[in-house]
Amino acid sequence: MATPTVVLLPVWGAGHLMSMLDAGKRLLARSDGALSLTVFVMQAPTEDNRTEVTGHIRREEASGLAIRFHHLPAVESPTDVEGIEEFISRFVQLHADHVKAAISALTCPVAAFVVDLFCTTMLDVSRELAVRSYVYFTAGAATYALFLRLPALHEEVNVEFDEMEGMVDVPGLPPVPPSSLPLPVMDKKNPNYTWFVYHGRRFMDFDGVIINTAAELEDSVLAAIADGRCTRGIPAPTVYPIGPVLSLSPPAEQPHESVRWLDAQPPASVVLLCFGSGGFFTAAQAHEVAHGLERSGHRFLWVLRGPPAAGTRQPSDANLGELLPEGFLERTKEKGLVWPTKAPQKEILAHAAVGGFVTHCGWNSILESLWFGVPMVPWPLYAEQHLNAFTLVAYMGAAVAMKVDRKRNNFVEASELERAVKALMDGDSDDGRKARGTATELKAVCRKAVEKGGSSYSALGRLFEDIRNQAERPNM
Ligand code: UDP
Repeated sequence: MATPTVVLLPVWGAGHLMSMLDAGKRLLARSDGALSLTVFVMQAPTEDNRTEVTGHIRREEASGLAIRFHHLPAVESPTDVEGIEEFISRFVQLHADHVKAAISALTCPVAAFVVDLFCTTMLDVSRELAVRSYVYFTAGAATYALFLRLPALHEEVNVEFDEMEGMVDVPGLPPVPPSSLPLPVMDKKNPNYTWFVYHGRRFMDFDGVIINTAAELEDSVLAAIADGRCTRGIPAPTVYPIGPVLSLSPPAEQPHESVRWLDAQPPASVVLLCFGSGGFFTAAQAHEVAHGLERSGHRFLWVLRGPPAAGTRQPSDANLGELLPEGFLERTKEKGLVWPTKAPQKEILAHAAVGGFVTHCGWNSILESLWFGVPMVPWPLYAEQHLNAFTLVAYMGAAVAMKVDRKRNNFVEASELERAVKALMDGDSDDGRKARGTATELKAVCRKAVEKGGSSYSALGRLFEDIRNQAERPNM
């Protein structure tokens, strides 16, 4: 019999695609030849996404692993959309027939079909084809718990969340202020919200949910999910916390310029500011950051992106002359580096000179920071980042809080950034000391979890056994 394959259906954003590929590769390695990997690639909706995805796939193909990439036929993007999560969900849904045809055409048995969290509409395909299906959840367990809880919250809370009284109950988490809920649920009239409730319901029908977290990082949340406390007593699918799944590559032969700059800085002296694939600043906000950093007196490496060019969604490379206050670069040239395009964040976080991270709280960025033991200041901007920021401060304790004005497009004043950076980086701040201590502890926790015998290592083993047992059943 041909080797059974696990089919992955990732979405195109780097934070989703790379994380899922890496999880797939871990499963492949664990199966020791008992499974192969097939990745269904949707043609990304924009040119810049397509270029990025092609680059990633080329690198993977060159690695020589048993991974087949199957490119699905392109679909027309829906145009009558109001929000990004709605767009992704509907764009994916349009691939249902292509996915069905591609699975049916495979010449080896399909052991499992693993889909990104925005691809729950594909459950209809896997049911029709009687294929075991899993979700790969690229965000944390707290976000997954909220998703599961959302269909009930939809009935319990009849007003917009920012108009409700009291706190939101997400079992396993401390009471969540409504202002810390993910952006896509903050406007119930927006289809983004409807899609979140939809995905929250559909997760319940999968055979398992693989989460990029470690059991020790979110233990009470995972316990609440397992006890059915997020789903009104109804048992939720088995969760496999197999993280941190990080795509780490060996250090570049020619270190990046920002990394070489770090080589010349004292240990733990630099605060990194970086805001994911989608974060960018207007000149008004960039001025506040510049003044805050300058007044903090700390060394900094600031990855600064500008607003997207007309007709595009991705941030543009920053025009520093337009975005920064006059004379800022000259005045701070001994202490800081402003990098106007993407920088190698993982290599930077791994560098001994980095002592703190002002982050947009994308889940991958949080895990990367914890992996290298770097304490954070959360500055959430979009997606589920406000909930991640809350989790980081109030639940994990690896960060120093900062006031972010959600009503003013997540604006942060210079004085507040200065205060938070000082608290994070100064040796005599209690908040900073606590965040640093916790980050160091969680670094050890993360590394232990994925080692042989660790919780994530064991969860991956259980996932493999579950998939293999199904693959060996005669009807597969
Ligand atoms: N990233 C990077 N350089 C940048 C910005 C982002 O290497 O200048 C990487 C970062 O290390 C992480 C990913 O892009 O692996 C961003 O994922 P995350 O989930 O943090 O945020 P998203 O981009 O999905 O909002």
